[in-house]
Amino acid sequence: MSLSQGRAYLAIPGPSTMPDRVLAAMHRPAPNIYEGDIELLAARVTDGLRRVACSTSHVAIYISNGHGAWEAALTNIFSPGDKALGLVTGRFGNLWARNAGMMGIDVQRLDFGIKSPVDPAQVEQALREDTGHKIKAVLLTHVDTATSVCNDIPAVRAAIDAAGHPALLMVDSIAALGCDVFRMDDWGVDVMVGASQKGLMVPPGLGFVWFSEKANQVSKSAGLKTPYWDWQPRAFPEMVYQYFGGTSPTHHLFGLDESLKMILDEEGLEHIWARHATLARTVWAAFDAWGQAGDIKLNLANPAHRAHSVTAARIGGGGAQRLRSWLETEAGVTLGIGLGMAEPGTPEANDFLRVAHMGHVNAHMTLGALATMEAGMQALGIPHGSGALDAAAAEIAKG
Ligand SMILES: *Cc1c(COP(=O)(O)O)cnc(C)c1O
Repeated sequence: MSLSQGRAYLAIPGPSTMPDRVLAAMHRPAPNIYEGDIELLAARVTDGLRRVACSTSHVAIYISNGHGAWEAALTNIFSPGDKALGLVTGRFGNLWARNAGMMGIDVQRLDFGIKSPVDPAQVEQALREDTGHKIKAVLLTHVDTATSVCNDIPAVRAAIDAAGHPALLMVDSIAALGCDVFRMDDWGVDVMVGASQKGLMVPPGLGFVWFSEKANQVSKSAGLKTPYWDWQPRAFPEMVYQYFGGTSPTHHLFGLDESLKMILDEEGLEHIWARHATLARTVWAAFDAWGQAGDIKLNLANPAHRAHSVTAARIGGGGAQRLRSWLETEAGVTLGIGLGMAEPGTPEANDFLRVAHMGHVNAHMTLGALATMEAGMQALGIPHGSGALDAAAAEIAKG
């Protein structure tokens, strides 16, 4: 008997669960887009975005998803033929580097595989070898949502500085912002990209680029810039329409305004970071117990390398795929697919899944997802160790 009726839980790493308050805030007529409240709203949201990034940087908002924000960041920094150093720790770093290459940027890649974070020593070495300082920027993914690797941004910044290299540090924090600790200014990040549908808890449709004054100066000579993606009018608008390069994303702004209020003024960033850390440990504890007597394993052995917003794991023998299907049809929970962990179409591709614990998620949601996973393993006869739910509950009890 299916027990999936009731409120469904989409536990995938974006779109994340949206607060009802955010959805309700969007449920209203469109405002005047030329003047009045919209100007205050745009300014307030921009200010909130700065605060979420712990930054005083400039902010450009795009009607796009994360892929668009990637491209926005690249077009404003590079000219055709410029060099970039692309650091790859999974599918997302790989795609950002690939897209940069397709745009005519000469990308040198350092690939760290799918089970390790960036090694800062290798970054330092690559930059030292660039004696002519041709590399204009380093592209780094904060949390690679496919592998759930969380990279150490300050360590990469330190490596750039140790090499005495002037390259800008460009960070994709799409899957970490509002979940894992991120401090743009303290960490010396020059450009950062984000999107609405992950830790910011708003429907997909907005992409954001934060940029330092140093990056702003570099952008003045960027040859890849096009009118729509140019961040100048968006960050320094004289008219409201310039914020958005045309019609405002009115309803997304209402939603974002509400979510920023919840994040910054109600729960607070520090508490949000701590909540995500606890929920992540809860998920890890369950997997560790399951793995005691089954072919079940977290992707990353070292907890210090793991994201707090999403967890990638393996359940062998096609167990991951079977469990995902069971959860969706029998229990109303949708887990994330494995991304880039095995060749698509091979049997191994069915061995990977991801559990998101990103954004508007609390203890009962994470415990509920884990408990239904346990039920699914029992129902499907997937061998697993015992005590996972006790271990998960103990993490929540610790707080
Ligand atoms: C989701 C995600 C993207 C892509 O965002 P889309 O909105 O799907 O285009 C890029 N980078 C990271 C790290 C992500 O998690």
